Amino acid sequence: MSSRPPESTPPAAPSTRPGLRLLRRLAARWRRLSPSRQDRLATLAPLLSVMLFLAAIITAFWYLRNEEIERELESVKRDAELVQQQIRLRLIENQEQLVRMAREVVTRAVDRDELLAQAERIERERPEIVSLTWLGVHRQVIARHVSPDLVAAMPRLGMPGGDPGDPVSAELRQRVTLETFRDSRELRLPVYSPPFRHANRLLVFQVQVPLIDHGNFAGTLVAEYSVEALLRHFVPPEVSQRHVISMLDGNDEVMASTAGAAALERGRHKDTLLTWSVPFAPVHHGVTLRGEGFRTSAGLVGNTLFWMVLALSALTLWMLLGTWRHMRRRLQIQGALVQETNFRRAMENSMLTGMRAMDLDGRITYVNPAFCAMTGFSEADLIGRMPPYPHWPPERMEENHRLLQQELAGRSPAGGIEVKVQRRDGTRFDARMYVSPLIDSRGQQTGWMTSMTNITEAKRIRDQLTASHERFTTVLEGLDAAVSVMSAQTGELLFANRTYRLWFGGEARWHAQLAGRPASGDDEQGDAVDAMAGVPTAELDEAGADAREVHVEAMQKWFDVRARYLQWTDGRLAQMLIATDVTARRQMEEETARQIERAQETSRLVTMGEMASSVAHELNQPLAAITNYCNGMLSRLRAGNLREEDLAMALEKTSKQAQRAGQIIHRIRQFVKRSEPQRQPARAAEIVEDALELATIELKRRNVAIQSYVAQRLPVLQVDPILIEQVLLNLLKNAAEAIDNAQMPPKRRTIELRVVPRHTAELGGVIEFSVTDAGPGIREEVIGRLYEAFFSTKSDGMGIGLSLCRSIIESHQGRMKAENLYNGDSICGCRFSFMLPVATTGDNSTAKTPEVH
Ligand code: ADP
Repeated sequence: MSSRPPESTPPAAPSTRPGLRLLRRLAARWRRLSPSRQDRLATLAPLLSVMLFLAAIITAFWYLRNEEIERELESVKRDAELVQQQIRLRLIENQEQLVRMAREVVTRAVDRDELLAQAERIERERPEIVSLTWLGVHRQVIARHVSPDLVAAMPRLGMPGGDPGDPVSAELRQRVTLETFRDSRELRLPVYSPPFRHANRLLVFQVQVPLIDHGNFAGTLVAEYSVEALLRHFVPPEVSQRHVISMLDGNDEVMASTAGAAALERGRHKDTLLTWSVPFAPVHHGVTLRGEGFRTSAGLVGNTLFWMVLALSALTLWMLLGTWRHMRRRLQIQGALVQETNFRRAMENSMLTGMRAMDLDGRITYVNPAFCAMTGFSEADLIGRMPPYPHWPPERMEENHRLLQQELAGRSPAGGIEVKVQRRDGTRFDARMYVSPLIDSRGQQTGWMTSMTNITEAKRIRDQLTASHERFTTVLEGLDAAVSVMSAQTGELLFANRTYRLWFGGEARWHAQLAGRPASGDDEQGDAVDAMAGVPTAELDEAGADAREVHVEAMQKWFDVRARYLQWTDGRLAQMLIATDVTARRQMEEETARQIERAQETSRLVTMGEMASSVAHELNQPLAAITNYCNGMLSRLRAGNLREEDLAMALEKTSKQAQRAGQIIHRIRQFVKRSEPQRQPARAAEIVEDALELATIELKRRNVAIQSYVAQRLPVLQVDPILIEQVLLNLLKNAAEAIDNAQMPPKRRTIELRVVPRHTAELGGVIEFSVTDAGPGIREEVIGRLYEAFFSTKSDGMGIGLSLCRSIIESHQGRMKAENLYNGDSICGCRFSFMLPVATTGDNSTAKTPEVH
């Protein structure tokens, strides 16, 4: 409703009448309504018009019916008045005749017989008069003539002076006659009686004409009229055919009627009865003449036309409702169609694939927004165009023409064709086009639908992928290490690089052997293998590359093998293996180990050499003692005073001294004896004891005291005791030398050896050996170079002691450190300590290495 008309018309237009304004406002409101409401109202309009039509028809029927009733009533009224008029005229005429006769009677112009003759004549001429009586002044019957009809109908009349007949009706008659007589006498005028019934149910009324003789009342002439005869003769047949004329008494009771009594009763019950009453002049006494009419038409209910109209209206309504329902269904379908169209349009618009339709001649009939967006041309630029199309690159016209011909002929390859497309701004892109026939709803081909996707990006990615794949392969192929991937399930070799192929000839079994597990299919692994994939569970848990060194006997080579599990490109679990040839390194390591061993041995010899004078001195004592004992025994033997028990004692002492000397030599031999490094369960206390035994000789010579403390119940170590002893001896010797060389005063010539259990975050449970001396400490510049081989501050020092010590400790997975001790700011000594882990079970140099044969 964008074009909303102005709400109010300008006041300057006085011609605008209120009705017109209302119409305009309605129209404006109509335009503001939503289409669905408009539809609903539009469907209601015919319904409304049918209802209006029906209402109009009903109103018309009502109007016609009222009109008819009114006409009928008019007719009844006319008839009633006509009858009344006729009867009145007749009665007046008769009355005049009677007045004339009365005058003749008074003037004696007629006697009794003459009167009777006249009466007979009158009754013949006027059948409504059923009797004529001359009453005297005392109401006595002077003469009477009764019509033969009445006589026939009523054999015995209850007339005064006559046959009394029916006593009741006779009495009534007498009363009526008396009252009328009296009235007539008083008024001196003709007086009519109210109607009454004879004994034979004949309804009559009287008229009594007074006889005035010279101003004196002399009786009356009584004429009796039969009401039925009156009605019979004075209601014209056409009137009685149309209507019923009845006579009613003062109480509106019907006394006589032109219709039969039954018809009257039937008519009375109908409310459709139309009546019109007029006074029955000149009788009065409340007597009325009533015309009754029935409506000739049968009313609404019986009206065929009305029912037909009603039926037709109902039919129209029904059909309207049907149409309405049908329309609603159509609207629903239309809604669904609109929705579908919108959905399709939205789909087309949101599609990234360009769509182009053309007819069988190659004229473009449709392009979707994606096609326009891709090419940069608008819909108007493209639709209706014949080849060459604007998006064809100029230099490829021929090729594009050929492709189009192929397309129109329906020979385009199913896999699509790759083309170059030129945008409006001149830039190009690669596209892939797919062609499919366009079939209309009748199954006829109307053209071709081409879908186009921009494959520049895809192509770029593909090229990149190819390049990166090439790089990857080059790197892998160029590697000195053998790289292989083996399926965990089937054991087939999925990948092997050049080096692998070179070394192992591309055989899968080498992979399995290097990985340390037999080729797949072997069920011996039991619990250590994952049930799902046959992967060693331990390896899965670690989930990383475990480096191992494997010796391949057949190739006489050592390999550093790293294996890890990965998901192969097809989703299968696979094991990747990288094997590097480390034979050279391994050999070098072995050589180094051998050299270290030799150095250790040499070092021990050197230590002993250094300690030679001390040892000699130490050996000198027992030897001197032995000599002394021997000399003593000899002199006493020569003097002859050697007793046997003295000899035994002296020999015992000599033997002890010799044993001691032997022990020293044995210890030295043990220490320097070349032996393969061997780990064995060893007690810290024993190692300390052995080391002290050798060191004490040197310490004594240098006049240095030693205190040792070994903690109780230390765990057993898994070490080479000779090597640890060598370390301890070295540390003790260094400490003693430092003290001695610095010529420390006696109170600082002490060394403390402590062995205690400790716990460190790095190594866990350890045993700590520490050698603390009160010597000069280590100088700043020395501290950083302590472990350097051949670094010494001594003139005769070799400088390999500490470096060997550290390599021995580290080969036992231990740690070694040196620190100065301070007393305030001044150095008061230094401490060398090393820790050996308690849980150590093996070391690299002695651990068993896997071998592949
Ligand atoms: P060497 O004893 O043959 O010199 P070492 O490797 O055993 O070789 O010692 C290296 C140097 O460390 C020694 O020259 C010395 O200067 C220093 N050093 C070793 N122990 C101590 C100590 N207890 N006090 C002071 N200096 C020491």
